[in-house]
Amino acid sequence: MELWTSGSSDKNKAMVEQLERYGIVQSKRVKEVMEAIDRALFVPAETRSPYYDSPMPIGYNATISAPHMHATCLELLEKNLQPGMRALDVGSGTGYLTACFAMMVGPQGCVVGVEHIPDLVSFSIDNIKKSVAEPLLNGDSLSIHAADGRQGWPELAPYDAIHVGAAAPEIPQPLLDQLKPGGRMVIPVGTVFQELKVVDKNLDGSISVRDETSVRYVPLTSKAAQLNAY
Ligand code: SAH
Repeated sequence: MELWTSGSSDKNKAMVEQLERYGIVQSKRVKEVMEAIDRALFVPAETRSPYYDSPMPIGYNATISAPHMHATCLELLEKNLQPGMRALDVGSGTGYLTACFAMMVGPQGCVVGVEHIPDLVSFSIDNIKKSVAEPLLNGDSLSIHAADGRQGWPELAPYDAIHVGAAAPEIPQPLLDQLKPGGRMVIPVGTVFQELKVVDKNLDGSISVRDETSVRYVPLTSKAAQLNAY
């Protein structure tokens, strides 16, 4: 597919190869999408080392997650991001993962980002426009909305994959409701101590939850609480 091969930088490729050596990038599809979506297009212009494996500030008391966290979430969701599938990215921030998801589900699939800071919504759309995911913005397959992601995005539910990019005190019920049977949600849960949880909705509708790893994300909260945080 042409979309996968058009130019991303050598430094981005080196970052992905490093993540592969550490065993964090494991699948061919995650490797291909991380090579295709140049991370530098998604960090603010003044960021000196966009490929450094650390979260970076993006304003509004938010950060772009570190490359190894993006890779971890992509690997955990890979089977639920097959061509034609549906994904929801809550707290989509820079739009980096939203763009990766859109490339993985392709033009027959559907990806929705929900971000509550309107300026970040426009920032993320501008970033995606510079990337190889740009054509997907013009169809129905990729959209980003300014809204409270704790409510999910019921209009396009149910989802095969839900990613939450900010830590919730507990798993929001609307997100569980919007997960398809057979679907998977990856969500950081906790306040001071947080765990990245992998939530599978089984075909009979029951839920299985396991902890993947300890993490530190910005909180999934109200806009006012986030903007007044410090
Ligand atoms: N995956 C994103 C993470 C950005 S940080 C990236 O790597 O770029 C988490 C994001 O969640 C922030 O942009 C923050 O504004 C957003 N957020 C926090 N609470 C939210 C809520 N209730 N609804 C929507 N977005 C929220």
